[in-house]
Amino acid sequence: MIFIGGMSSKQEKLDFGQSILCSVCSRFGTLEVFMEYTYLSLFFIPVMKWNRRYYVRSTCCGSLYSISEEIGERIRRGEHITLSERDLQPLRQGQASFVPRCPRCGYELEGDFRFCPNCGGPLK
Ligand SMILES: [Zn+2]
Ligand SMILES: [Zn+2]
Repeated sequence: MIFIGGMSSKQEKLDFGQSILCSVCSRFGTLEVFMEYTYLSLFFIPVMKWNRRYYVRSTCCGSLYSISEEIGERIRRGEHITLSERDLQPLRQGQASFVPRCPRCGYELEGDFRFCPNCGGPLK
């Protein structure tokens, strides 16, 4: 008989999405919540789960935060939660965009413009 089992860890995306104005890249994005856990499987069936951790990722720049297990559990149970900045422990800051922006309207300037194509403001 061959014993097939082992410990693995897995990430699961939770049903959560919160629109934010990102403080890292100052764009609009969505916060997504992931649960990561370690599990023991026997014959490909997970029999035990533990070590749950919850992460939050922003879709705009990929900043990563951790949140407390308590809040994570409530999100997993489907409670309607609004995350505030003090719930988020920064783990990794995403890449803020280096695209130059119009100082007047914030339009992204991909190219060499003398005037903003959005608002017509002069650019230095
Ligand atoms: Zn961002
Ligand atoms: Zn502009």
